[in-house]
Amino acid sequence: MNIILFGAPGAGKGTQSSILIERKKMSQISTGDLFRAAIKNKTELGLQAQSYMDKGELVPDSIVIGMVEEVLKKNTGSIILDGFPRTVNQAEALDGLLKKLQVKIGKAIFLEVPYQALLSRLTGRRVCKSCGTVYHIESKPSAKADICDSCGGDVVQRNDDKEDVIANRLKTYEEFTMPLKNYYKKTGLYVEVDGNRDTENVYMSISALIS
Ligand code: AMP
Repeated sequence: MNIILFGAPGAGKGTQSSILIERKKMSQISTGDLFRAAIKNKTELGLQAQSYMDKGELVPDSIVIGMVEEVLKKNTGSIILDGFPRTVNQAEALDGLLKKLQVKIGKAIFLEVPYQALLSRLTGRRVCKSCGTVYHIESKPSAKADICDSCGGDVVQRNDDKEDVIANRLKTYEEFTMPLKNYYKKTGLYVEVDGNRDTENVYMSISALIS
């Protein structure tokens, strides 16, 4: 089954995607990861995206939708859309793309996490610069400070996880992404999962929905 995983920044989309990839052999399309890779590789796309990301704003739909189309075309197997769509306009564009490519989405899964929990997750989040493994300074620190347990790479704070940017990301989320809940309720694809539990319990709920 192909799914959309959506929710606020820090809701756990990336974490749950990693487990779904490992255990269910799904493939992930994460627009945030695609942009970060483009920035790292200093591509034209990266240059276009960086200024928006640094401010906690959304990258314009015209850039995002074209990028997703290219990736979707090449994808086979079960897909997790992580961080896309993020606006109603993107959701409508996605419907068009899916129709064109004859791909169907089975569920749009919303990860519900209260605001205070999001704030604490985002301010404490750290990531490995090399392999992307996600840590948290309190709930999941790396064994050696600032060094990745998996690959030995540098563990750092994402630029957009700095406090002033987080506030803007959460505001942007409320304004542009929250309306997607109604969009997917109308299509009948919407399901809500309590994301304010430990990773394994959240995964069990998602797994039950897509089995
Ligand atoms: P994420 O890793 O999903 O939290 O995304 C990080 C940042 O990438 C966001 O704050 C946006 O600036 C940008 N971004 C990711 N996905 C999208 C999208 N679907 N539409 C617009 N901007 C996006």
